[in-house]
Amino acid sequence: MSIRVRFAPSPTGFLHVGGLRTALYNYLYAKHHKGTFVLRIEDTDRTRLVENAVENLIKSLHWAGIDFDEGPGKGGDFGPYIQSERLQVYMEFANILHEKGAAYYAFDTSEEIEEMRKRNPLESFTKYDRHTMKNELTIGSDEAKKLIESGVSYVMRLKVPENSIVSFEDMIRGKVEVNTSEIDDQVLMKSDGYPTYHLANVVDDHLMQISHVIRGEEWLPSTPKHILLYEAFGWDKPMFAHLPLLLNPDKTKLSKRQGSVAVEDFASEGYFSDSIVNFVALLGWNPSSDREIYSIDELINAFEIEKVNKGGAVFDRAKLEWMNFQYLKQMPVTELYQLLKPVLETQGITGFQQDYLEKVIELLRERIKFIKEMPEIAGYMFSAPGEFDKDYLEKHWKENTVEILKPLLDIYRDTIDFNHSNLYELTKNYIEGLGMKLKEIIHPIRLMITGKSAGAGMFETMEILGKDECTVRIEKFIQLKESGKI
Ligand code: GLU
Repeated sequence: MSIRVRFAPSPTGFLHVGGLRTALYNYLYAKHHKGTFVLRIEDTDRTRLVENAVENLIKSLHWAGIDFDEGPGKGGDFGPYIQSERLQVYMEFANILHEKGAAYYAFDTSEEIEEMRKRNPLESFTKYDRHTMKNELTIGSDEAKKLIESGVSYVMRLKVPENSIVSFEDMIRGKVEVNTSEIDDQVLMKSDGYPTYHLANVVDDHLMQISHVIRGEEWLPSTPKHILLYEAFGWDKPMFAHLPLLLNPDKTKLSKRQGSVAVEDFASEGYFSDSIVNFVALLGWNPSSDREIYSIDELINAFEIEKVNKGGAVFDRAKLEWMNFQYLKQMPVTELYQLLKPVLETQGITGFQQDYLEKVIELLRERIKFIKEMPEIAGYMFSAPGEFDKDYLEKHWKENTVEILKPLLDIYRDTIDFNHSNLYELTKNYIEGLGMKLKEIIHPIRLMITGKSAGAGMFETMEILGKDECTVRIEKFIQLKESGKI
């Protein structure tokens, strides 16, 4: 059997991390089994349409590196892959169901449905009462046909068999059984001529030859309805796997209130796509007990849907930050340069050579969590400091500091090879020659050159800034100090 899986989002405007996890697991499953990954857009709920939602969704998938083999804009043998472009197909299959006696027309107004609900106020959900409401079963087929011809609005409902057991084997949860008394006569075709999710989803999974349906747990209650549809059509069922819910740390359903949930927001906050994908892959599954960092190829190799946990997966934002930092530490500097350049440009920092920026990245990458922090953290690498840490100045600037610095400045000026080990030796020898300790001069130097009280290794910083820049900064600071401006 060839493996064909699909990600079937409803375009709600952005890709939720839960959706990304579903897409990723489908992708990993397809790649692991050398199968096909299909993207299908389920947009039959016309009340929830959002402009550019499909483009945004595809953009986010693309950002995450999850490529689909068939889908909108890509083509394939089973298209179109956007449900609103397949309305004829659903109509045709709805009629087949009707002919088979597995579905019936219903003519109730929304007020009448509301009335029906009120009759059972204590029920958590009210099933459609097919025996008392206005439908083909109560008024007869001829009457129903007349009503339809007269232009009355109608829906088509699934005729759920009475009192029987629907069961299926879930690849994660094992056997799932439901009595049909708990299943509503689901609307399959709406009065606007659009199918509901249930009909369109089953018809498409069948026509697109989907072998495995891997989706979020929130769809588990829908699956018995889908099983009934497969059975009514006489079609083979795909395998099902329902992925655990994503939870906040307090075990409530993952919500926006506790932080970002849209993939595009994580991207703009500066998370790397690789770390997001790595993190999301481990929401409910981990191939090993003592490892957290995996490349996409390792994930593909190790992926086993049967090993996914049943219990909800906590979305631990601190762990995500930690993971991002692991990626930051090991990412090739040329890639970080590509990410840094536009960040600097938006802050008006331009004109620096790649080579220089790469050195700055190497110098300071351990001190940032996100590339976007670089202009702030490394500001003194792009221009001389305009402000100087006052407390630090008071603490470390002594009466004789200027006097001590002047000869050192000459030493720096005369240094041919302005590299960190030379600078260290020269400074150390000079200052120890005065009977002082290196740290007594390092603090004032840091202050003059960076304006800050902390930073990366001082001599490494000076080497990258270069002799001219360092000596000018020291001179200017001495002038400011001597003229009493600071
Ligand atoms: N359209 C559904 C969604 O928005 C798809 C559920 C499924 O995969 O069957 O997630």
